[in-house]
Amino acid sequence: MIIGCPKEVKVQEYRVGLTPANVQSYVEAGHKVYIEHGAGAEIGFSDEAYQQAGAEMTDKATLFAKSEMIIKVKEPIECEYDYFRENQILYTYLHIAADKPLTEMLLKRNIQAIAYETIKTPTGLPCLAPMSAIAGRLATLESAKFIQKTFGGAGVLLSGTAGTPKAKVVILGGGVVGLNAAQIAMGIGADVTILDINAERLAYIDQIFGMQIKTLTSSRGNILSLLPEADVVIGAVLIPGAKAPHLVRRDDLKLMKKGAILVDVAIDQGGCFETSTPTTHNDPIFEIDGVIHYCVANMPGCVARTSTLGLTDSTLQYGLKIAALGVKEACLSDPALLQGLNTYNGKCTFKGVSDAFGLTY
Ligand code: NAD
Repeated sequence: MIIGCPKEVKVQEYRVGLTPANVQSYVEAGHKVYIEHGAGAEIGFSDEAYQQAGAEMTDKATLFAKSEMIIKVKEPIECEYDYFRENQILYTYLHIAADKPLTEMLLKRNIQAIAYETIKTPTGLPCLAPMSAIAGRLATLESAKFIQKTFGGAGVLLSGTAGTPKAKVVILGGGVVGLNAAQIAMGIGADVTILDINAERLAYIDQIFGMQIKTLTSSRGNILSLLPEADVVIGAVLIPGAKAPHLVRRDDLKLMKKGAILVDVAIDQGGCFETSTPTTHNDPIFEIDGVIHYCVANMPGCVARTSTLGLTDSTLQYGLKIAALGVKEACLSDPALLQGLNTYNGKCTFKGVSDAFGLTY
């Protein structure tokens, strides 16, 4: 198959859909790979490295014109629509349930679109989990930074030091984000409590972390009891397909210490603190009632090299399968990949999207 990987065009998006090592895997499997000039240059993947791996460097228009499958990171935005050809395969993050113009473009051009975020195995979402893991780890690191006095925080070192208290880190949601946030917080030496509504998940966390961590059932009463002492609260809840619940309300901020930090990782699902609004890496924090809020919606973007390596480790196996078999056979042979198929032959093939736009499923 002929595969093309363009440079991302979204503001401050430095990730890339294929690394030079990925190119080598496709080429060794007998495929032809085009990479757009400079696609990975910002994160240390030079054009020369791609060429050495067997890719041909080209411009965006030629790449789209020649490729049967386009491999990207982010969903196409309007300035990219006209590059797509009839029946082309698109393999990327899509999030089209929230993007009607993109859905219409994919259907109109009969694009065979596979979304990373909906590929689903019996144990989880393999192409989404690496980004959640990175966001969770960053959540603790960012809180450690913004609780410093220079950023308006309380002036607390998360680990404390000999003879001083450790910071109290409260994590709402013990899924992939929550667990990774906890690992870093514990590594730093903070005092960590994880809350979840899922008793089995709490039991699992208790088993793997033992006495080093406190687990608590997530209830309004338990959350309120922790807020006055918390230095950092990390919001990491997810109810699949629904907006995040507001677990900390506006009035609750009065209970918190001045200069405490709320990190709302769930901001991409609307946020789990009532006072959260999305922020960017350029201007990541704001303050309400003395409490610092960090609500960046694309946290992994700031560690684009690690994120690219983590993402492509997961996407490669499915990409190779599509390249070898074509979309139809690859999806029929792999139920996880079939869940990833969002549009095919002008039809919407993912229920969440057809429901969102009233399309035939
Ligand atoms: P996950 O499904 O692995 O974990 C979510 C956890 O939340 C589950 O264990 C669930 O039981 C728990 N939960 C649900 N309701 C709860 C409640 N009321 N109280 C406490 N726990 C509750 O999801 P994840 O991969 O960890 O993702 C968490 C959130 O982070 C999602 O909204 C995801 O989209 C978001 N995310 C954001 C970024 C970013 O850059 N901001 C990056 C990655 C993921």
